[in-house]
Amino acid sequence: MYLHGTSKINAQGHLEIGGCDTTDLAQQFGTPLYIVDEALVRQRAREYVESFRASGLKFQVAYASKAFSVMAMCSIAEQEGLSLDVVSDGELYTALKAGFPAARIHFHGNNKTPEEINMALDANIGCFVVDNFNELYLLNALAADKGKRVNVLLRITPGVEAHTHDYISTGQTDSKFGFDLGNGTAYKAIQETAAQSNLELLGVHSHIGSQIFEVEGFAMAVDKVAGFAVQVRDELNVTFRVINLGGGFGIRYVEGDTPLPISQYVKAITDSIKTNFSAASYPLPEIWVEPGRSMVGDAGTTLYTVGTSKDIPGVRKYIAVDGGMSDNPRFALYESKYEAILANRANDPLEETVTIAGKLCESGDKLIMDLELPKAKSGDLLAVFCTGAYNYSMASNYNRVRRPAVVFVKDGAADVAVKRESLDDIIGNDVIPARLQTSAAR
Ligand SMILES: *Cc1c(COP(=O)(O)O)cnc(C)c1O
Repeated sequence: MYLHGTSKINAQGHLEIGGCDTTDLAQQFGTPLYIVDEALVRQRAREYVESFRASGLKFQVAYASKAFSVMAMCSIAEQEGLSLDVVSDGELYTALKAGFPAARIHFHGNNKTPEEINMALDANIGCFVVDNFNELYLLNALAADKGKRVNVLLRITPGVEAHTHDYISTGQTDSKFGFDLGNGTAYKAIQETAAQSNLELLGVHSHIGSQIFEVEGFAMAVDKVAGFAVQVRDELNVTFRVINLGGGFGIRYVEGDTPLPISQYVKAITDSIKTNFSAASYPLPEIWVEPGRSMVGDAGTTLYTVGTSKDIPGVRKYIAVDGGMSDNPRFALYESKYEAILANRANDPLEETVTIAGKLCESGDKLIMDLELPKAKSGDLLAVFCTGAYNYSMASNYNRVRRPAVVFVKDGAADVAVKRESLDDIIGNDVIPARLQTSAAR
């Protein structure tokens, strides 16, 4: 069993996180419950910031809020001096309402609507990461309407493919994102940006994928971006002040996952920047990165209550919990792997191999295949580790299941950051048109 951050097994044999006994948390807040180890989130943020400080380069660490976008998390990002990436009006609204400084917000996405762009212009966000020509011209026009000149990075597709699951690779040429470097589109985009009077080109952005365990992909991306920067300087007399290398830094979900320490990713990137740009006598650019998963992933644990089981002799035994793909769709989407323990019997010997299923009406509604557990009984608590990223943010109300609460734990205190949805929340946006109302409702 691998325990992340402040997680430990206490004298009662219970899982404890942030000084809080998880059996108490289950009692107090109910299950399913997302638990966030606040100290671990802050530790990750500091690892990034301190590693960049050590490089001597100017930098911004922008938390990719899509991994887990809630107001409390925006507050922590603000307190730790991070910047913030958003990709929708909803994420932007969350950040602004949390009091996150607009100047440190970067807006991403391959299909930003005019409404979203206007909202971000009105808020005076720090930077737009422009993804395509439609957006380039639209942003320029909308900025001109408001008499503003806005900072932009151009998202380029460097043609580097991260060694990761196909669904989450975005650096290759066949991608819906960005201007392609290899076929001249990125070059054209630089020319077009320079020709727009309401856009201020800061530099370029590249994101090569997610859950990456090696530094080579990042170093290759830096090589390509640096080569491009030099070409653009020499031929177009445009100098990049910012290079954004995206996110994608891996985390340990299960045994066999071998992420590097954050400091090593940062060192590989900053070393490679210094080497490439110095060699071309290019003023060292400011480096931005955008970690999402690695900022919050291992700080999250989901607590479920065990319900029913089904033993199919010679095939498998299912244990069902009170959540599932509605709070964690990652197995259904990617067959993602997780580790889990019985939180209330963490020292009991492992006795059987089971498959953890959810309660939703899909055969694919599973959380973990072939997990070793003590013989789980109805009422036991199952803790699934590393659910901080892309779980709550991907949760749904499928089957009209209510989304769980989120609690932040630290030094023995547990505070609600998101309330559990109520049944009235479930029908909150429903309207029965008058002609469809039943007599009982009339
Ligand atoms: C998803 C994404 C990130 C964050 O990726 P992680 O793998 O969670 O670190 C950063 N930048 C961009 C552009 C993204 O699409």
